[in-house]
Amino acid sequence: MTGMRRVWMAAGLLAVAANCTLTQKASDLETGVAKALVSEEQEAQLGEQVHHELEKQGVKLSQDPVVNKYAEGLLAQLTPRAARDRQTSWHVHVIDDAKTVNAFATPGGHLYIYTGLLLTADNESEVVGVIAHEVGHVVARHAARQLVAQYGLQSVAQLALGENPGLLSQVAAGTLGNGVLLAHSRHDENEADTYAVQYAAAANYDPRGIAMFFRKLPGKKDPRVDRVMAYLQTHPATPDRIEHVNQVIAREHLAGSKVGVAELASIKQRLQGMTPVSSR
Ligand SMILES: [Zn+2]
Repeated sequence: MTGMRRVWMAAGLLAVAANCTLTQKASDLETGVAKALVSEEQEAQLGEQVHHELEKQGVKLSQDPVVNKYAEGLLAQLTPRAARDRQTSWHVHVIDDAKTVNAFATPGGHLYIYTGLLLTADNESEVVGVIAHEVGHVVARHAARQLVAQYGLQSVAQLALGENPGLLSQVAAGTLGNGVLLAHSRHDENEADTYAVQYAAAANYDPRGIAMFFRKLPGKKDPRVDRVMAYLQTHPATPDRIEHVNQVIAREHLAGSKVGVAELASIKQRLQGMTPVSSR
């Protein structure tokens, strides 16, 4: 039996057990399955394994305590509201790579943000929007769910225990190559965006930050930043995605007054000061 089929069979059983209707959205069901079958502990282990593997594969984490604290501070403003949707542990890691504009989430509440993204954003509300989007992926357990769907429960359990190093390095390599653990569906992207604007507004940030960021990104084709398009490849800034963000903001009357131009500017200055002129 394939992993996918096993998941769907389990999904069917769960649906019956929970008295769900068959019209329930498939992805909600899958999220429920991931939640029921991949324990919190297993997900935490999985996140640790992926983190070690990313380091093994050469990811350079920021060693600047000011930059790291900055990212942690932004995340800490989002998690109180996110905890209403999912209680888990949170970790944010800054990847020291000024040429890559990207961010991704792995199981166990691990968020990764590239210094290139911090340098490309124009204000803090944009960075908050991106981090909140990744928080949304974690809340909805998208990564764990997709790993189960793609590789099957047994393999995911082995991954979590470090018993399948080959697959683990494959998963990590894919993450570094594509900027995502596994490609998210459009539904998952919209779901993460919905959480993103809710969480940003709850922290009193302008919830339009995420839309601002991906609307102007195509215009930021800086030849010195050769991977500026990475974020767009994994998070297409399609008009309907921006439309969806605007709809959620309007429908839920979301607002926030913080934009944070000066705050991000000082971090950018710091990052630029640490980056040799020749490589920028
Ligand atoms: Zn996403």
